Amino acid sequence: MQGSAEPDRPSGVAPVGDAIRHRSAVVIVLSGPGGAGKGTIARALVKRDEGLVLSRSWTTRPRRVDDDADAYSFVDSAAFEARRSDGGFVEWNEFLGFMYGTPTPDPEEGRDLLLEIDVAGGRQVRDRLPGALFLFVDVPDDVELRSRLLGRGDDAERADARVAEAARERLEADDLGYRRVLNDDLEATVDLVAGLIRDHRASNG
Ligand code: 5GP
Repeated sequence: MQGSAEPDRPSGVAPVGDAIRHRSAVVIVLSGPGGAGKGTIARALVKRDEGLVLSRSWTTRPRRVDDDADAYSFVDSAAFEARRSDGGFVEWNEFLGFMYGTPTPDPEEGRDLLLEIDVAGGRQVRDRLPGALFLFVDVPDDVELRSRLLGRGDDAERADARVAEAARERLEADDLGYRRVLNDDLEATVDLVAGLIRDHRASNG
């Protein structure tokens, strides 16, 4: 499994962090196991907050049945590799066999940026932007996690791999100083995260 590997990055990508700094007062990193609800939370947050924009990642993963049309920019490996070698990603990682990356944001945008990425990507963001807000959305237990994964279209083998990966990510998230947010009630969790973002803006604005 490559998910925990710190990827090599081409030299010359340092200005990417500056691009974020210019365009965004605040960067929020939302990580957590697939199936924990972070995508739903992220969409709810940007819907209620015009000052927040959700980055659309690139991935080589095939589209899944439950993916929104704009969930990702779905690309092939050659397109991903071309952008990566041009330094066109803020961060990127291989997760369970597919590539995922955050494209360099448009510096004109000028809004706060929400990244829904895995913890290995979060580590890369933390290295560049230690003042970002790092939140790890989690589920009550692994049985619940596995049933959510099966329910959204993963086969049993991939669901099991994701549950194992979640355990590893939890430890890494703790190590990186992520704040853990338990999503056992969607509306309450969105309210909680919105409040954390508000507080973070207030102390970093
Ligand atoms: P999924 O296949 O369930 O959509 O995503 C698998 C994992 O990749 C999730 O943990 C998701 O947060 C993460 N992910 C999605 N986009 C990115 C990205 O741009 N960068 C990184 N590092 N991880 C991402």
